[in-house]
Amino acid sequence: MFISVIIPCYNEEEVINETNHRLVNVIENLTPQFELIYVDDGSYDQTPHLLRQLQQADPRVHAILLSRNFGHQMAVTAGLDYAAGDAIVLIDADLQDPPEVIKEMVYQWSQGYHVAYGVRTERTGETAFKRWTAKVFYRLINCLSDVQIPLDTGDFRLMDRQVVEALKIMPERDRFLRGMVSWVGFRQIAIPYQRSPRLAGVSKYSLWKMLRFAADGILSFSLIPLRMAIWIGIFTFGFSLIGIIYALVLRLFTSIWVPGWTLLFISVLFIGGIQLVFLGVIGEYTGRIYRENKQRPLYLIRERLGFDKK
Ligand code: UDP
Ligand code: MG
Repeated sequence: MFISVIIPCYNEEEVINETNHRLVNVIENLTPQFELIYVDDGSYDQTPHLLRQLQQADPRVHAILLSRNFGHQMAVTAGLDYAAGDAIVLIDADLQDPPEVIKEMVYQWSQGYHVAYGVRTERTGETAFKRWTAKVFYRLINCLSDVQIPLDTGDFRLMDRQVVEALKIMPERDRFLRGMVSWVGFRQIAIPYQRSPRLAGVSKYSLWKMLRFAADGILSFSLIPLRMAIWIGIFTFGFSLIGIIYALVLRLFTSIWVPGWTLLFISVLFIGGIQLVFLGVIGEYTGRIYRENKQRPLYLIRERLGFDKK
């Protein structure tokens, strides 16, 4: 069995050597055949230089250097495209995800699971704000999303070759890998672990990047924000009908009406309500176009029985 490990790095000069050391130690004990693929996501520190050195010292180390900072998810995607392993492991460069957990992942894989994903039981050394936002995010996305994304998982996971091949034919530009991995299905199992503090350096996910990431996660997996227009539209239209009846009753059966007011009031409510409903309808169509545009495969096959191979 051949194992590929993909490690995205963005300005990780302080940790990269230690990470490599720990990873090699762990994987060497699991299999003689492996590759470590470092993807440098446009670092402007010594990271590319260090990667070059690591590569020269050890042929099992590979490095892909991206032309600029494309973001974590794209860096991982590049790694997946070049990984040759039967099983592919994704892990952060900062050792927040302990490499020792890979052993358990490989064991589950050998038991026939296609995906073994890490679930953080505890997050030490992260700010209360980060923990809180992460918690809200995972719950929100599961309320809104069509696929269930396991709570508190990151990208730390092992994937079978088949799963990676499936990800490779999902060409969407807004990539939210952990959601995509849930979407593909196959047999998946959670592996609880404790998330440690960063070995050194600071988080490379700025607040802005985190928000963008959250938006990608929600918008690529859910049409609910778009659909809300139709429900709010129907709701407001219902309310405006009550308002319209009220205005008519005032006008026809009482003497407390102001000239011109009834028509004005009715038109505002009516047009407002109708507009929202149709905005919702347009939303529905836009949603469909959006989904089509992604060109996702319509189904994925886990196994074929009784056919000739290929
Ligand atoms: N990373 C990357 N590109 C980016 C931001 C982050 O490749 O634009 C890498 C980073 O080097 C690390 C991993 O993604 O290996 C996770 O980032 P980080 O540890 O900063 O995020 P956090 O753990 O704070 O969520
Ligand atoms: Mg980290």
